[in-house]
Formats: sequence, structure tokens, C-alpha cells
Amino acid sequence: MLNIDSITNGIVIDHITAGKGMRIYELLELDKLDSGVAIIKNVKSNKYGKKDIIKIDSITGVNLDVLGFIDNRATVCTIQNGQLVEKKKLDLPDKLVNIVSCKNPRCITSIEASIEQVFYLCSAEDHRYRCQYCEEELTQE
Ligand SMILES: [Zn+2]
Repeated sequence: MLNIDSITNGIVIDHITAGKGMRIYELLELDKLDSGVAIIKNVKSNKYGKKDIIKIDSITGVNLDVLGFIDNRATVCTIQNGQLVEKKKLDLPDKLVNIVSCKNPRCITSIEASIEQVFYLCSAEDHRYRCQYCEEELTQE
């Protein structure tokens, strides 16, 4: 069992939008990690009211591009030997590779399963992405 208060070497993803913790857990495939992972939901936050936190007992294995795409408000804290060594805010990734798939049925990626799904950021202001192949705009639920 992971002791959520004392991570010696690991990553803490803080300031996750409340309710997004589980989705991040799934998209980062944290269930496949061999290390301890704790999701703490609806923690009181001075800044945003409520937040989720994920603590991972491992430094590696976290895809920060995915994280930046799902919730770029989150901060990633890296802990080594019980000390906070790095704290960073996430940017929206310029490119999404094999994270989301194109919904256009005529898109080459819908026809050829072997082609990588690539979306590029077309507007950072309103978080818009377009398919690299057919320009279809990514719609998020
Ligand atoms: Zn497409």
C-alpha cells in the first residue's frame, strides 16, 4: 500500500481539475505501472475550490503530453530522495500522436489502421486541434 504522504521517489500530479483524476489515470495507463499509484479526489484547494491529486511511486512512465492535453492546469512535481526537485506547469502539446483518433470516416487514418493518429494544435487560445491528414477538427466530449 502506498503511503500517500511520504513519497521518496516519485511524481505528484497536483491541481488536477476535480473529476478528471480517473480519466487521467486511464489515459496515462497508470494501471499498467508496476508502482504504487494513489488518486485523491475532491481535495480542497485555495486556488480552484476543489482538485484531484495523483501520486505515483515512480519517476518514469508518465506521458506528460497526454497530461497537458487533458488538463493543462495540472502541475507535475518530481520528488527525489524525499525532496521536491522539480515543479512544472504543463503546456498544451503541439502535437498529439496516437492519443485521440480522427472521427472523419473518409480520413486516411480511418481506412488504414497502421497510420499514426496525428493532430496538431491550431489554436492554443481555445485548445483546438486538427487532424494532420484531413484537417478535421478534433471535438472533445
Ligand atoms: Zn483525419
